[in-house]
Amino acid sequence: MQNFKHLAALAAILFTFCASAQTTYLHCGKLIDCVGNSAQSEMTIVVEGNRITEVRKGYATAPTGSATIDLRSKTVMPGLMDMHVHLEGESNPKSYEEKFRLNPSDVAYQAEVFGKKTLMAGFTTVRDLGGSGVNVSLRNAINAGLVEGPRIFTAEKSIATTGGHADPTNGVKKDMMGDPGPAEGVINSADEAWEAVRHRYKNGADLIKITATGGVLSMAANGLNPQFREEEIEAVVAAAKDYGMTVAAHCHGADGMLRAVQAGVTSIEHGTFMTDEIMDLMKKKGTYYVPTISAGRFVAEKAKQSGYFPAMVAAKAAIVGPQIQATFSKAYKAGVKIAFGTDAGVSQHGQNAWEFVFMNEGGMPPMEAIKAATVTTAGLIGKSADLGTIEKGKIADIVAVDGDPLADMKAMLKMKFVMKEGKVYRNDE
Ligand SMILES: [Zn+2]
Repeated sequence: MQNFKHLAALAAILFTFCASAQTTYLHCGKLIDCVGNSAQSEMTIVVEGNRITEVRKGYATAPTGSATIDLRSKTVMPGLMDMHVHLEGESNPKSYEEKFRLNPSDVAYQAEVFGKKTLMAGFTTVRDLGGSGVNVSLRNAINAGLVEGPRIFTAEKSIATTGGHADPTNGVKKDMMGDPGPAEGVINSADEAWEAVRHRYKNGADLIKITATGGVLSMAANGLNPQFREEEIEAVVAAAKDYGMTVAAHCHGADGMLRAVQAGVTSIEHGTFMTDEIMDLMKKKGTYYVPTISAGRFVAEKAKQSGYFPAMVAAKAAIVGPQIQATFSKAYKAGVKIAFGTDAGVSQHGQNAWEFVFMNEGGMPPMEAIKAATVTTAGLIGKSADLGTIEKGKIADIVAVDGDPLADMKAMLKMKFVMKEGKVYRNDE
């Protein structure tokens, strides 16, 4: 009798435990699971806790105690991923004053808003490729469930060379410049490269970002020149490898880009003046290309608006901006591995899905563009076992739009449903 009592108690505990993992049935009018190359009609996804436990044909009836979500008028896809955002800010005509006005706490409040906009647009995972370190705190707060936002893989602070793109004191008067070093993400030797990577690791970065060439928005004359020596990039890559981190390289000009690919970086960001030789080498080495057409178009447009950018920046934006979409087309045709990324923060947060429209305009069919933001991005962040497709066993990051993006890419802008880790963050029905 005593034994039976124990068994009954154990069964009660087990029942309570199992019941606490909520089961949800999602009825999907169209499902793009990103495993195959087409959409399936009238499908059910079963989610238990934070995982997908089953995908089956037809609209299965949920057992009592389980929830049903009606997405029968929607197209359902894996959570989207943007490999290049900056959640700490968003460009505006007064961006260049902000570093003199905003405290880290001000940056944190706006970063939370930008993160939430990103999630609501259907982007459940992002790489934050450079900020002040608030991006690390935001990642931690989201992971702890304190605020709502996408899953973040952050580079913390970008690594630059003195006077280079991402030297935090560019454009500042001399008595305010000081002499930033590896702790601040500024290096001038291979040894300092190691030191800077170790600082990023210590500060909680998930990956490393370098500015291998000049950039558009920094207060410096050249937007294209190489800014790292070969041995400096090689040191960054070797140090990052020791700490289990990948390296994303911001590149516009070809010379610095070639050095970055040769040194073994994981992804080229922007890639504006990518040559055929670089494309071949990227294919050989498996280097990813994150185009950020959105940012190119945004800065080209704003460069025409008098007073939006300082004159030095506007001149660079007019050269670099219009080129990126053409480079994307060439790289796509050449067969370079393309991962979706916008540089949101330059362009507006929450508008990330426009990149799909620009990729499609550049010659990439809708199905491939969606895979570039799901399957390919999961590969880039090393999470293919958990993310990127809708399959049994994957983490339940699931989104849905109105309309059929395979017929009209602009349907990606009509986000209506967002689930991350099995939790519903948006359901417009
Ligand atoms: Zn960027």
